[in-house]
Amino acid sequence: PPLYKQRYQFVKDIVGKYKPKKVADLGCSDCTLLWMLKFCSCIEVLAGVDICTSVMKEKMHRLSPLPGDYLQPAERRLTITLHHGSVAHKDPCMLGFDLVTCIELIEHLEESELEKFPEVVFGFMAPSIVVISTPNSEFNPLLPGVTLFRHPDHKFEWNQAQFQSWALETARCYDYSVEFTGVGHPPTGMKNVGFCTQIGVFVRKYPQTSQSAHSDKSTEAVYKTAMYPSL
Ligand code: SAM
Repeated sequence: PPLYKQRYQFVKDIVGKYKPKKVADLGCSDCTLLWMLKFCSCIEVLAGVDICTSVMKEKMHRLSPLPGDYLQPAERRLTITLHHGSVAHKDPCMLGFDLVTCIELIEHLEESELEKFPEVVFGFMAPSIVVISTPNSEFNPLLPGVTLFRHPDHKFEWNQAQFQSWALETARCYDYSVEFTGVGHPPTGMKNVGFCTQIGVFVRKYPQTSQSAHSDKSTEAVYKTAMYPSL
């Protein structure tokens, strides 16, 4: 399967393993991952955030309930919300999530946004699990036609050591552990190149007390909510 599908499948496997009830996808783009996660029965709340409303709206009709959904038993209630905002800003609507995914997002952030990102995601949102994926620049010579970056909007592409040192430092700062993996295997005999997409899975070390969940978080809303399809 194409790489983006492998990344989405990776997230689905994480959902299968940890059974989160509330999942937020940051940089959700055209909501394809949210749409796939709609079918994970453990999930009760799904939220998407993107800085670009037009891309979010492109296919969002797919998130609306299907006729058959209304026939489902009422115990499976799913609420999906989409928010227009930046991952560089804290918003109270982003609190209370169990799993936060950032798939191919960080390499699109300006330096000033990337600086604020850890405090927003790990400090403020503080979910039990965070999944971050980003290109591995060591793989680029194996990709036809890639000169500097894989995409013109990328602000940077990190090698394995750069991503891992950023992730380890972030994890240390906010009391998370992190494990590295990826999707897109290197050709045989080139294991050192690493995965085409590198992935960090962060797990919060200590359970969040209700006090830590709400203290100092009286932040003003800055996001605009695009819609609330729910079933
Ligand atoms: N996660 C999706 C996927 O894996 O298919 C889309 C990744 S796309 C390459 C990056 C997305 O991040 C774009 O939709 C872009 O609008 C969004 N983005 C860029 N900067 C952002 C920011 N500061 N806050 C929220 N989203 C942002």
